[in-house]
Amino acid sequence: MKIVRLTYASRLSRDTGPDALGKIMTVSRRNNKKLGVTGALCYSPRGFLQILEGPADMVNQLYARIIKDKRHSFVTLLDYSPIPYRDFENWSMAYIRADEIGRALLQKFSTRKLFDPYEMGPVQARGFLIAVTNERADFLAKQEAALRKR
Ligand code: FAD
Repeated sequence: MKIVRLTYASRLSRDTGPDALGKIMTVSRRNNKKLGVTGALCYSPRGFLQILEGPADMVNQLYARIIKDKRHSFVTLLDYSPIPYRDFENWSMAYIRADEIGRALLQKFSTRKLFDPYEMGPVQARGFLIAVTNERADFLAKQEAALRKR
């Protein structure tokens, strides 16, 4: 079956508090594993940037659910493409908060201090999410190594 990558940006709804993000991630990881969907989600006060990758019918079904979710709004599709391979094969959904991203990395992809997903084109969005997910994986690996040394 065809594997696709879907990229979108959205704004957090006014009445959605920070506790909603934890719930979204728990449900996403549980569902995505079942659907064979992988990807990454970056959150900043200016909004969400998410990539969903997986079998076309699963990604389509999931996106149809996500756009109806009242916890965010102005959902804007940035890209939908068939892909030869996944970029996030080890992540049922990587989650990155923009305020945890290294400054140098943020500057590489943005002219602003605060990351704004609506300023990104699809190529930039993909490069950005791959870079921040790799940064997160390196951080987690170092943390794990330090714990093992203790
Ligand atoms: P349910 O079992 O119906 O809900 C689980 C719990 O989530 C509920 O108890 C409730 O507390 C909460 N919840 C669910 N929907 C809402 C809602 N609309 N408003 C308030 N609380 C709610 N889902 C995925 O499966 N994969 C993703 O990658 C994914 N990414 C998302 C990214 C963003 C930015 C947002 C806003 C949502 C995302 N979601 C994702 C959630 C998605 O919109 C649906 O809520 C979810 O898929 C419903 O799954 P379910 O039927 O298993 O959950």
